[in-house]
Formats: sequence, structure tokens, C-alpha cells
Amino acid sequence: MNIVRVALDLPLPRLFDYLAPGAGESDIGRRVTVPFGTGLRTGVIVELATASDQPDARLKEVVAILRDMPALPAEWLALCEFCARYYQTPLGEVTSFALPPMLRRGKLPRMKKPPASSSAVPSPPAIELPRLMAAQAAAVAAIVGQAGFQVMLLHGVTGSGKTEVYLRAIDAVLAHGGQALMLVPEIALTPQLEGRVAARFPAAHVVCANSGMGDAARARGFIEALTGRAQIVLGTRLSVFMPLPRLQLIVVDEEHDASFKQQEGLRYSARDVAIWRAHQLNIPVVLGSATPSLETFHHAGTGRYQMLELPERAVADAMPVVRIVDTRREKLQEGLSAALLVGLQLRLDRGEQSLVFLNRRGYAPVLACPPCGWISRCQRCAANLVLHLADGRLRCHHCGFEARVPRACPDCGNVDLLPFGRGTQRLETMLVERFPSARVLRIDRDSANTPKKWQVLLAAIHAGEADILVGTQMLAKGHDFPLLTLVGAVGADAALFAADFRAPERLFAQLMQVGGRSGRADLPGEVLIQTEYPDHPLYRALVDHDYARFAQNQLDERRIAGFPPFSFQAMLRAEARSMEQALDFLAAARKAAEPLADGVTLYDPVPMRLQRLMTLERGQLLVESLSRPALQAFLAAWMEKLYAQKMPAGLRWHLDVDPLEF
Ligand code: ADP
Ligand code: ZN
Ligand code: ZN
Repeated sequence: MNIVRVALDLPLPRLFDYLAPGAGESDIGRRVTVPFGTGLRTGVIVELATASDQPDARLKEVVAILRDMPALPAEWLALCEFCARYYQTPLGEVTSFALPPMLRRGKLPRMKKPPASSSAVPSPPAIELPRLMAAQAAAVAAIVGQAGFQVMLLHGVTGSGKTEVYLRAIDAVLAHGGQALMLVPEIALTPQLEGRVAARFPAAHVVCANSGMGDAARARGFIEALTGRAQIVLGTRLSVFMPLPRLQLIVVDEEHDASFKQQEGLRYSARDVAIWRAHQLNIPVVLGSATPSLETFHHAGTGRYQMLELPERAVADAMPVVRIVDTRREKLQEGLSAALLVGLQLRLDRGEQSLVFLNRRGYAPVLACPPCGWISRCQRCAANLVLHLADGRLRCHHCGFEARVPRACPDCGNVDLLPFGRGTQRLETMLVERFPSARVLRIDRDSANTPKKWQVLLAAIHAGEADILVGTQMLAKGHDFPLLTLVGAVGADAALFAADFRAPERLFAQLMQVGGRSGRADLPGEVLIQTEYPDHPLYRALVDHDYARFAQNQLDERRIAGFPPFSFQAMLRAEARSMEQALDFLAAARKAAEPLADGVTLYDPVPMRLQRLMTLERGQLLVESLSRPALQAFLAAWMEKLYAQKMPAGLRWHLDVDPLEF
């Protein structure tokens, strides 16, 4: 009897057996349409079998095996199986996620004919290549000369020529007829890089992949990767699932970036999956960053990863000068220090650009009525509504709820409502008033809410059509602003004492990145950091451009506290109509875990920091171990119990392995 075992997109950790009289070995990895319940579903054939543990009479027959594209290779299935195991997610949910939506639905895009002239061997680039600096040349040689699996950390500040190193290594891969995969943090970045890659490899077939693309384009890219026509795949985290039969090199640029970790559904880390994949294929993987994640830096320190350092900038010869502005004894003007205001004026006089960095969008974090104590709260979340004066709205940054700004206090009728705190819009308003002749441009997720608007803003900055930029971390990433010579960071202190142990790491990375925007051309850059903690080691390390010292410092603290990378964590989260129900579920899950927890610490269920989101109350339960295998074994046994349990109505839960957010 011919039976196929099918991975279906269902929240059940098992495969589904169907009769398939005509099926053979070559159908493993093919999509298949099967009857399920009263309808049809499309899944992926994972195995063949001759007998089923379900009674034969109940087995249904497949509707159709889709043989219209090559089967997904065994490696790809193994990758999905790894993710299912590691992230404790049903295999069908993983395969479904890893496929572009169109293919997932059993459809196929219309393919474009490859141009007749395209050849597999790349022709030399039309552009002249820069002569590599010694450190770059050494890095390229190490990557190109690496036979077999190795994780390599390419550590260098912005402008140190990391991208140039990737491109040389990719060039070598193409020359050997291989495929290269390059992962980048977010959609906003890819157009620049796409242009650079296309210019460098005009004859190569480059496929881009990100979730902002149209359905057909994504599916086409996937098939081109699968059939081997794509030579370079450049994309955001989801492209780590691209099938690439001749993959020889993986690059993860800005490897520390949090966007590599998906925060819903399959909660995977594309960087970690990339490393597993490189191991599976026995190929090198290059992680690039100016501020590596502490996990990565730790492994480079122990020699598990190979460290490749780029100590100098390729273009500007000097790093920006970082100065700390002590604001403890100063009366700030709308949040800005005299030193920063003087600096801004100086850049205006010289016709140079400045950037004021504040990682909080909106006008003010909350609107309040001081006489009666009313404040703008979201009705659905345990959070304040943020005042957006630009369009007169109050908005919840967590659930998207919005309302008109009230004319008077809803509780007492007072018309003098006051904004508290400061966001980018408020800074913008203040700067416009203060420097009437300056062209002030605000860049955040509100002003650049589409890729198109973002491109327009970037072009304006490049064309020198702005004097002062006000922006969030959106501005911090991978853009080269040749006229920018001053960066002022305000409101950074909040992250120093945040409850999340990763907050300092993120702050350091952001400030380093945002500082790296300045002084890239022949104009030296200056960074001013306003703070009430001028002696904080994090800021001192920034002044000295000493990432290694900062990282070592943090690692020492984490070792003492037993935090990652010195321990391994997973978080069980639950949401329900009442906090009691969420916490009860977690308490029961904890009880179920107790007999299984060998070498694993179970913490107590607690409400999440954002306790209520979209009217649901949320709780969490942290589990931790000094051993990853012990944690993995425990999670597998625990999840089996939880999946077998009947869930109370209205309760939802998920597990987050290696959680980044607390
Ligand atoms: P990163 O990726 O580290 O920010 P890039 O590779 O983008 O650095 O390099 C920064 C700039 O310096 C780019 O414009 C690049 O073309 C140029 N560049 C890189 N390497 C060299 C080199 N060896 N000589 C001259 N220019 C270089
Ligand atoms: Zn809300
Ligand atoms: Zn009031």
C-alpha cells in the first residue's frame, strides 16, 4: 500500500497519512492537495510509508500530487525538521511558513523566460574595484580559503569595508558555480544593497526576497533559487528558508539586529538557523557587525567562531569624536543642551547636516490633565496613548488603536491638556522654531511609513535638501550620509536601567550605528551624547570606540547573573481574558514540567511587562538551563504534554525558544 505522510499547516505536532497509489520516492518534497475535514488543504510530502498507524479504513486518498515544480530537496526538509524540533513548532507550520504564500496555496507563478544572453559564469564587473586594505584582504582570504563549516565573525565599524569583503567572497563563490545567500536586517535597507550587488555582478542572476514583495515575485524567486538559476539571494530573515542546491556561502549582515528574530508564529532566529544550515551543508557562514550580539562575541572570544577584524574605516580616515554632555546641572531647552544647540548652529553656518537622534516617535508619550489626573490610556492595552500632533491623533503603539485628540479632558472638561515627555515630532517643532532658516526633516516610522516615502526622504538627505534631521533608529542603519557631521543623541539614558537585560546592548549598538552615520566623507564627524550618567561605562566605552571593552563588561555581568550566553532560555507565554486564567494555565504548565525538569530551572509565572495587549491579559513563565541539550530534551517532553492537554476556551499559549524580549 502506498501511503504518503504529509506535513499540514495545523497546530498539531504530527504528520497526516494519505493513500497515494501513484506515489514514488521522487514525490518526497512535493506539495500535495489532500482532503481534510470538509475541505481541501495543501501540504508537503515528507515521507513514504507502506503502513499507517491509523486504521486503513479511515485513510483518505490524496487529491493531487503537484508535480509542476521540482520537489523540495531533502536538505530543505531537514532544515524545516530542525526548526520544528528546535523551536517546538509542528512541522507543517514550519514548511508552510518556509514556502512563499502562493506555493503554500498550491499555486504556481508564471515564470519569466531567462534572457538568452545570461550565462552561468559572471562576467567581470564594469565598475572599478577598490584595492583592498590589508585587513580586508586577510578576511577575504580566510573566507574564500575556508573549506567546510566555520562561523566567522567579521567585526568592523560602519564604513570599515565589510560589504566589500562580502562581495569579494560572493564573487569567488560565483566563480566556482555556487550560490550565495546574504541576509540583511530589514526591508528599508535592501534597495541600496540590491543596487550595489547588481552593479557589482551585472551578469549574475540576483534574487531578492522580503515580505514586502508581491506574491508572484516571491514565489518566482523561490523557484529560481530551487532550480539553481538564482546565483545570489539577498533578503530579510525569511530568505534563510530559500532552497539553494549549490549553496556555498551564507552572509548575515548586521547579525546583532533584532529583526532576525521573528516575534510571532514560528519564533525563529534567522541568524541561528543560518548557522545550522551552514553546518548541515558544511560551508562557511560570515556574521558581520560593528556591534556583534554578545552571544556571537562570546563565541568569537572562546575560539568557537573565527574572528576577522577590520580595524579601520575604508573611506574617512578618522572615527567621529564622541563627547558626553553632562546634563545634570543644566537647564535644557526643550530637551536640548547648550552644547548641542551650538553644534547645530555651527553646522548650519557651514552648510553641513546634523542629526538629532531620539528613539521615540510621536509628539509626546502621553497627554494628561493635571488638575484631575486623567491621562491618555489605551482601552485595549496596559499602555498610554501617544500624542501625534502632526495629524491630531492619539495612538497606541502596541495595538494600533487611535482616536482624535480630545479638545477637553473627557473626565473633567478642562481644556488645558498637557503633553508630557518628548518624541520626534516635538523635537521637530522645537527645532523649526529655534532655527527658522533651517530645513528640518523628520524620519521615523510615521514619516517614512512606506518604502516609497522612505526612498524619497533618503534621496532628499543625499541631495543636501535638509539641514537638520530628526529621527529614530530608522536612520541608524546602513546609510551613508556624506554631508552629515554632527549627531546628537537625546533621551538615551532610559535604556541604561531598563528591566530587559539586553537593553544596554541594544543602546550601545544604536548609538554606535547612529554615530557611524557621521563623518563618512572627508568631513570629520562629531557625536554628542546627552546624559545624566556621564561616567557610565557604556558611554565611556563609546567615547573610546571600544566595543570589546563594553562587551567584556556586559559578558562579565551576565556570567555572574547567569544570563545568556551563559545559560539557555525559553519562555512560555499565555494570553486570556483574565490575568488569573493566564497565570493559572502557566502554573499548571509549571506543575506538569516539574517531573521533567532535569537540569532545568523553572521560574514562577508572572504578568508580562505589557500586561494587556488588544484586551488580552498576558503572562509568562521562564525556563532556563546551563545546557542547551538539557533544555531541548526538557522542552520536547514538556510540549508533548501541553499539546496533549485540552485547552480552556479563550486561552492561547506559545513557546519562544531563545527569547529576545522579556
Ligand atoms: P561597511 O559595509 O563596513 O559599512 P563598505 O564595504 O560599505 O563598509 O565600505 C564603505 C565605503 O568604502 C564604500 O563606499 C566602499 O565602496 C568603500 N570601500 C570599501 N573598501 C574599500 C577599499 N579597500 N578602498 C577604498 N574604498 C573602499
Ligand atoms: Zn493598545
Ligand atoms: Zn481632567
